[in-house]
Amino acid sequence: MSLALEDPVSALSGVGEKRQAALRDLGIFTIEDLLTYYPFRYEDLGARRPSETLDGEKVTFKGIVSTPAVVRRFGKRSQTVLGLLIDRENIRVTFFNQPWVAKNIEVGQEVAVYGTYNAAKAALSAIKLVPATTDALDPIYPASKGVKAKTIADLVEQAWGQLRGQMPNLVPQHLRDKYRLLDKNQQIEWAHFPKDSAEAKAGRRSAAFEEFFIFQMRLQLIKQADQSFGGQPLHYDKEAVATLIDRLPYDLTAAQKRVVGEILADQHDARHMNRLLQGDVGSGKTVVAAIAMYAAVTAGCQAALMAPTEILAQQHAKSLAKLFDQAGIDLRVELLTSGLKAAQRRQILTDLTNGDIDIVIGTHALVQDDVYFHHLGLAVIDEQHRFGVKQRSKLREGGMNPDILAMTATPIPRTLSITAYGEMEVSVIDELPAGRKQIITSQLSQRQFDQALALMKAELAKGAQAYVVTPLIEESETLDVRNVTEVYQSLQAALPDYTVGLLHGRLKKDDKDTLMQGFKDNQVQVLVATTVVEVGVDVPNASIMLILDADRFGLAQLHQLRGRVGRGDRQSYTVLVADPKTDYGKERLKALVDTTDGFELAQRDLELRGAGDILGTKQSGMPEFQVGDPVKDLTMLTIAQQEALSLVRESDWDNQVENQPLVTYLSKTMAQFRHFD
Ligand code: ADP
Ligand code: MG
Repeated sequence: MSLALEDPVSALSGVGEKRQAALRDLGIFTIEDLLTYYPFRYEDLGARRPSETLDGEKVTFKGIVSTPAVVRRFGKRSQTVLGLLIDRENIRVTFFNQPWVAKNIEVGQEVAVYGTYNAAKAALSAIKLVPATTDALDPIYPASKGVKAKTIADLVEQAWGQLRGQMPNLVPQHLRDKYRLLDKNQQIEWAHFPKDSAEAKAGRRSAAFEEFFIFQMRLQLIKQADQSFGGQPLHYDKEAVATLIDRLPYDLTAAQKRVVGEILADQHDARHMNRLLQGDVGSGKTVVAAIAMYAAVTAGCQAALMAPTEILAQQHAKSLAKLFDQAGIDLRVELLTSGLKAAQRRQILTDLTNGDIDIVIGTHALVQDDVYFHHLGLAVIDEQHRFGVKQRSKLREGGMNPDILAMTATPIPRTLSITAYGEMEVSVIDELPAGRKQIITSQLSQRQFDQALALMKAELAKGAQAYVVTPLIEESETLDVRNVTEVYQSLQAALPDYTVGLLHGRLKKDDKDTLMQGFKDNQVQVLVATTVVEVGVDVPNASIMLILDADRFGLAQLHQLRGRVGRGDRQSYTVLVADPKTDYGKERLKALVDTTDGFELAQRDLELRGAGDILGTKQSGMPEFQVGDPVKDLTMLTIAQQEALSLVRESDWDNQVENQPLVTYLSKTMAQFRHFD
């Protein structure tokens, strides 16, 4: 009976139910999965020179035996010592308790010995003799409790023994030629059983490209399917939209104009819009969303804006109502949150269904089962990374497949957003409105807290307001509350002339709202808070942001917090109070002091940490790659994207002979992949 790629791994000898389950946990179901489960490193059995070897390193030396093997016995124990000449370096090799090796060794013979090197003594504590002919690398596989790396290696060998030469090429020939990629069979051979590190490298390179390419093909196909799935062309009123823009209290920045153009074009198009609007805090995303929503309304549709918190939803509702009002545009904007009284809620739901409401702003309450729209044309999602993927698709289903505009202030280096949001088009506002003063960021140690306090007092004396933020210390809310309360009390004592407010996660919703409103109205001058102020709150009179234990926050989070100030005319300050202990911690804070540009910061963060961490794999739907590294191999990833895109743009790509293995593979695996979206 012959083995096939799509057979389950249980077809191999030595794989019973238990081992099959353990392999499944590693994502290995079929023989094909097993053969594309690549080693993550290789144990070096190749020969090396002592002078290139670190003290204590495990290594294989290949050389000529220079002195005869002498066995010394101590009762049951023994040492066998011989000299080994490697190129021109001579070392002493000692085998412990393996007296028999002496029999197989004579002077002048070439041998290879694997062991631990002692640099000071120029000696090798030998573990074993290896055949002198080997230059090979031992593949080491990512393993688990249930299945050892060695077992995986054996299974791969067993499967490959039967299937060698039979792997179809998923990457089309023209791409393999163009990028000097290996034939699939050579790729497998070299990645699993390299004769030297050059082969291993070449094998992995081809495997990484294949992985990226398949991933990008899937994204492109999802995107195609998405667009073909009943989008609606919005015939919006161009003049009306131009009038709104004209009547805004300020001129749009060039970047805002550009993205408005991109969005309006998408809305007008019959294809379904799925666009991500990225822009740093304060770059003016809200007004862009307002224009898009208004366009939808002039086309006879409704628009919805979903915000991550109640406070933000309220703020949006207020500022949008004001914006339309000032422009002399008569629209019905309503707020739908879970805080509504039952009767109010019922009324709003009715008016949404019969089309009396033009724009609705809300939180998760917008995606409840009993919410029906008359004709939802556009759904805007603010701070989209805070919404689960399910809620996004729920909103999609709830209406009439409305256009989606997701907004995020988490700057992701453009190239990386390919991966994170591969199925979305991306618009970027890369410019702040004119006249904004740069926020001055400084870092102080805990001992210099008085300086921070002095700066705060000076700002307060000018009539400005201040934020003081403390981190979430642990999972324990109680501890956080205690910490933030202590800070609050000491500030109250230090600032007797001002009202200090305390905001933390344990407060009741009403109390939170009252406090936030008080801060907005300048009845409260200093707001002490845990990270609840992170997102979106707009208080232009606040000019100083004091962040305690700043090293406990992520870079992106710190940048968000900083964006709470500098929203008005005042020169604003962010003071990071921290004593970072590690170089990494110091670097991160330094990055914030050095730049206020969110994209530059994201790039620094990326370099300091790597991609997965930044995006938070789960939150963003960022896939994990087995071989490729989306940061280190970014160029390759970008090329894979371009090639996938140009392939699916060929109308008959899926009928061409050279693409058949790819088509088969994608159709086999796409169903599994669907849950990604
Ligand atoms: P974010 O992108 O962080 O959501 P907002 O939309 O809240 O930013 O805008 C921040 C502030 O900038 C708001 O007060 C808004 O009115 C103002 N604003 C937006 N666009 C412009 C512009 N082109 N010129 C001047 N001020 C603007
Ligand atoms: Mg915003």
